[in-house]
Amino acid sequence: MACLPLFKRRNTTPVWCGNVVIGGDAPVSVQTMTKCDTRDIESVVREIRLAVSLGAELVRVAVPDREAAMAIEDIKEQVPCPIIADIHFDYKLALLALEAGADKVRINPGNIGGKGRLLEVARKAEEKGAAIRLGINSGSLEKDLLEAYGGPTHEAMVESARRHLAYLEDAGVDKIVISLKSSSVRHTVEAYMLMAEFTRWPFHIGITEAGPGTRGMVKSAAGIGTLLALGLGDTVRVSLTGPSHEEVEVAKQVLQSMGVRAFGPDVISCPTCGRTQVDIVATATQVADALKGMTVPIKVAVMGCPVNGPGEAREADIGVACGRDGGILFSRGKVLGRVTSEELVPALVRLAREYAETAEGKN
Ligand code: SF4
Repeated sequence: MACLPLFKRRNTTPVWCGNVVIGGDAPVSVQTMTKCDTRDIESVVREIRLAVSLGAELVRVAVPDREAAMAIEDIKEQVPCPIIADIHFDYKLALLALEAGADKVRINPGNIGGKGRLLEVARKAEEKGAAIRLGINSGSLEKDLLEAYGGPTHEAMVESARRHLAYLEDAGVDKIVISLKSSSVRHTVEAYMLMAEFTRWPFHIGITEAGPGTRGMVKSAAGIGTLLALGLGDTVRVSLTGPSHEEVEVAKQVLQSMGVRAFGPDVISCPTCGRTQVDIVATATQVADALKGMTVPIKVAVMGCPVNGPGEAREADIGVACGRDGGILFSRGKVLGRVTSEELVPALVRLAREYAETAEGKN
């Protein structure tokens, strides 16, 4: 069987969402969704600002009623990022959210009430210069598709997307983003792969309802990572049962791990074993914490012993191969000398900061 060309990003039509481009040559953007009540404007603004300070480029808010839809106007005045309105069931809330300045509306075609209502939202979005996300969810597919496919299969999800996409395209809508989400990694990946055969609109990707903590992060990384490797994905949302700022941090780590974007330092540390003679867990954690906020994509290796240590440390921009009571520092492949255990963290952090100031670091 022929191998698929990995990491070749799919060609897509760029779609503006406020001041952020989704698709085309634009970087794969990071988005999240707020967890607090959208009507509590002070709290939602605080949450959005924290998410943006950590790297969110687009933020979605839930719009369960008129008050939440109208709050978007005030929210937008106080935050620097595009705001997406998340709509279910009531198309009138989408119209209100667009009037209030939403840069994009996420519509679930399975529960919005039919073609006429979808097109009404589309006309309003066009009038306001906003984008539409057709957000297909395996949990709310149309009855006829569930019957035809015997359940919420990836084929049923794609058919739902194609059906509603045709309505929008026939009406001349020209700012569309598509998502096909399921809590099953396999179904999600299969759905995006199939949909990519039929459209050039950009994809919003993620694994829905991924769960809490490690479970949610691993499931999201497995699904989003696979899609990114297949070149399918233009904007990413990690859906965690947890705070939105955590979603942003995980999304950035997945993008950086897949080599799709570089946001800052990559701390490579060994898993430790019976040979370890320095507290590598503490050292790597302290180095990673000290470098938080740095935007230069520098590789810093913290290795526990001379087995793989010198090799990894040499490959990195900066590194240390530890031994008894300290380690050997490396920078750009050259040995700099020995440091004691106490000197390790400050020395690595100083070297990383110096590196960031050099031309190499700035490129
Ligand atoms: S680098 Fe050394 S200490 Fe770290 S896991 Fe490998 S063998 Fe063990």
